[in-house]
Amino acid sequence: MISMNDNTTLYRADILHFSRSTHTPKKDVCFFRDGALVVREKKIVDIGSFKELLENHPEATLVDYSGKLIIPGLIDSHLHFPQTEMIAKYGSQLLDWLENYTFPTEQKFSNPEYSRDIAQKFLSQLINNGTTTAFVYPSVHKASVDALFTCASDMEMAMVTGKVCMDRHCPDYLQDTPTTAQKDSQVLIDKWHENGRNRYALTPRFAPTSSEAQLAALGELAQQYPSVFIQTHLSENHGEIEWVKQLFPNHESYLDVYDNFHMVHSKSLFGHCLHLHEHEWERLRETGATAVFCPTSNLFLGSGLFCIDKANQYGVNIALATDVGAGTSFNMLKTFGEAYKIGQLQNTKISVLEGLYMMTQGPATYYGLENDIGNLNPGSYADFVVLNPHFDELSKLRCPKSISIDSAEDILFALSFIGDDRAVQATYIAGTNVKKSIKEQQYAMA
Ligand SMILES: [Zn+2]
Repeated sequence: MISMNDNTTLYRADILHFSRSTHTPKKDVCFFRDGALVVREKKIVDIGSFKELLENHPEATLVDYSGKLIIPGLIDSHLHFPQTEMIAKYGSQLLDWLENYTFPTEQKFSNPEYSRDIAQKFLSQLINNGTTTAFVYPSVHKASVDALFTCASDMEMAMVTGKVCMDRHCPDYLQDTPTTAQKDSQVLIDKWHENGRNRYALTPRFAPTSSEAQLAALGELAQQYPSVFIQTHLSENHGEIEWVKQLFPNHESYLDVYDNFHMVHSKSLFGHCLHLHEHEWERLRETGATAVFCPTSNLFLGSGLFCIDKANQYGVNIALATDVGAGTSFNMLKTFGEAYKIGQLQNTKISVLEGLYMMTQGPATYYGLENDIGNLNPGSYADFVVLNPHFDELSKLRCPKSISIDSAEDILFALSFIGDDRAVQATYIAGTNVKKSIKEQQYAMA
């Protein structure tokens, strides 16, 4: 007979996380020097000092990551999986970039096999870089949604995605209608939302590509399914904002367009938010919606500088995201590094702990998922990342050998500039080292 305890594993490492929601990350961070994380049946059951937990869990199998740093699995709050293959395409701003690169690429995702192949490659990129939950835009095709949820489910990854809806101002081959967008989204919600660890997000690409009739149809679903997320773009580029004004002359602002169709609430994620009016910031705060800061994308497309001071002044939730393929890296720490530079240009210091919060416990709390993800609390899924601060000659030279709370901050900061996926020694999802599994599969196929 197998006893329950046979599945218990104790991971030894230095450990850093936020155990609860906070406005003062520096004050509320939890650090365990020579700590331990105990995992059983896919979930965390204990966290504390190694010495103490070893005594309390003598049955556990020991996995020794001494000298490494464990942090929660990272949350990427906005990116596009069909754009994996068109990352780093030269020379356009938003509207041209969509027309020249994005739309032709997304056409390929009507093919289920192609969708599945790219979904797998996309998920490998996330996992290699320590991302364990992502809010993802697929294409307009149902097949792309099924592909991504299926591949994520194979790894028990907490995935959030939903069919992109567009019924105008894009090529015919990508257009749905108000009726098909509503019907297909509903079928996919019934199939995938809260099925395993998956969750659905209603996904109008952005206001210019949806008619009022389509937004109204999606708004009906938003009211019918209050636990379903909403993800879309907001106020990214000046040309886009002018266009929205012309298309929706009766609305007082860009955000008001979505608001009018019941799509602004605590489960809404708005990508970019670069050029908002004061009343839009105020409305985001009032509704508990999240502004998603995508620094590498904003720099790459020359869209503008996210004003973190403004967001903080209004008390708006902020999450970090890569926005691949306009974003230029899948790596969330590197993404923080670019956010830090954007802060520097505006004379605002963004600390690395604020950055870590915006990719772990912060968004988990905003989205109501903090009992499952974003932290290393007992009861949460064992989604975590093992960072190796000494993965090459430069990092060995730069990063302190011994990890304390201050050096952990210093190490995370350094890895945000000189680190990459090599610093991610392991990525665990629901207690399995999926980075290792993917490498073994790739090796077997080679
Ligand atoms: Zn985007």
